Amino acid sequence: MSAKLIDGKKIAAEVREEVRLGAAELVAKGHAAPGLGVILVGDNPASKAYVGSKTKACKEAGFHSVQIDLPGDVSEAGLLAEVQRLNNDPAIHGILVQLPLPAHISERRVIETISPDKDVDGLTTISAGRLASGIPGFVPCTPLGVQQLLIRSGIKTAGVHAVVVGRSNLVGKPMAQLLVNKGKGGDATVTVCHSRTADLGAVCRQADILVAAIGKAHAITADMIKPGATVIDVGINKLEDPSTPKGYRLTGDVEFDGAAAVAGAITPVPGGVGPMTIAMLLSNTLESAIRRVQG
Ligand code: NDP
Repeated sequence: MSAKLIDGKKIAAEVREEVRLGAAELVAKGHAAPGLGVILVGDNPASKAYVGSKTKACKEAGFHSVQIDLPGDVSEAGLLAEVQRLNNDPAIHGILVQLPLPAHISERRVIETISPDKDVDGLTTISAGRLASGIPGFVPCTPLGVQQLLIRSGIKTAGVHAVVVGRSNLVGKPMAQLLVNKGKGGDATVTVCHSRTADLGAVCRQADILVAAIGKAHAITADMIKPGATVIDVGINKLEDPSTPKGYRLTGDVEFDGAAAVAGAITPVPGGVGPMTIAMLLSNTLESAIRRVQG
């Protein structure tokens, strides 16, 4: 391996410590601690685990946190009422509804019910519009975390060609937007690829920064990477592996060993982008609490 490893665990720990200090400063000045409200619907084990780690992270950061567990057969109206309750709760600065939701509930309707002032997941149309317009607002945590990885690793974005593979509202599109917007961690020339892109390899090979957010194990191989490029692997895929206690292991969208021999810098999976997502959720919630204080 010749690429420099971008250590997401270490950078996420730095962000979380900064957030903890920021929250302590708010409280020392007599303001309320940042508050996060999380709603979990049903008993999907992965969702439960995500919510558990978010609640734990809140505690460690000195935040106030509220977790609302609803049964999988809760009505859409029942869920919307809980979101409204959190909207109206002055102790709550950020609201997160853990996705996916059961099929009988409209995710879009639920997301749009979250007050844009508390949309720390950055998923409402208003947040997306603010990001697209370059107006301060909340940005989805995973792409925001990728941008922080780049900034804090000293990787130049201005003037470089960044290729984002994936166009979801959660990752690909906001990622492209952050990279193209003016300012720190932005000012890149951005290309967005997806499943209909012709000759993905040829486009990826032009990238100085390549962000893979595809959801397919090892879709990006060494021959698709420009020598010296920065490769950010957002993907989390389960690969069967009977030799592990769980019977599977997590792997990214990038074929790591091959890519690391060509790239200049690369994120591992796990331990790259993943830890940044929760760190940025805390950071967005602190930001929301500070905005409230500043009116
Ligand atoms: P989606 O399934 O919503 O989007 C995947 C995107 O990849 C789509 O735009 C799709 O194109 C594109 N795509 C699929 N196959 C190909 C292909 N063969 N070539 C080029 N493009 C392709 O996934 P998400 O954006 O939500 O997530 C992406 C990955 O990131 C997943 O592995 C997910 O688990 C992971 N993730 C990780 C997080 C973290 O904290 N580290 C947080 C969120 C997600 P099209 O639009 O044409 O269908």
